[in-house]
Amino acid sequence: MATTRREVVQTVVDGVTVEVRRSAKRRRTVSAYRQEGQLVVLVPARMSAAEEGEWVRTMVARVAASEQRRQRSDGDLERRALELSREHLGGRAVPSSVRWVSNQSSRWGSCTPAEGTIRLSDKLQGMPGWVVDYVLLHELAHLLQPGHGPQFWRLIEGYPRLERARGYLHGVSATAGLGLSDD
Ligand SMILES: [Zn+2]
Repeated sequence: MATTRREVVQTVVDGVTVEVRRSAKRRRTVSAYRQEGQLVVLVPARMSAAEEGEWVRTMVARVAASEQRRQRSDGDLERRALELSREHLGGRAVPSSVRWVSNQSSRWGSCTPAEGTIRLSDKLQGMPGWVVDYVLLHELAHLLQPGHGPQFWRLIEGYPRLERARGYLHGVSATAGLGLSDD
């Protein structure tokens, strides 16, 4: 007697909860979609466990990549940086590159003034635009002024939602139990 595997199983792949649905009608194709925040992967029932596991990992990576593409791109971020520099810093901060990074776990943003590069944590994606703008402006100001002395804060004091944005980020850090700072 052949062992029958359950038709629907929950599994966790790379921190993502996945519902794997096995269908006897499905012959070869594998597909995936989001349903109420959960990822559903449809696989042919006749697939071996090893094959299925491999496909599920592939589909999780594929969905994650396409979701990321839909979020703000580095190009959008660069354009926004130049706008903010013009509006609040007299256009004096001119970054050589501005990009999203996913490997930054302890800071919202960072910059290398010597190289003029700015990096923003992709954890900011999905947060309100005025919060992302604040982090971007903060890093832009560091291109002109290192450290957090009075001169630094004077540079960005014109940003209308400065305190609100800082409060928002502190709130998120505290809720998530993260030591993320807006440095
Ligand atoms: Zn800072």
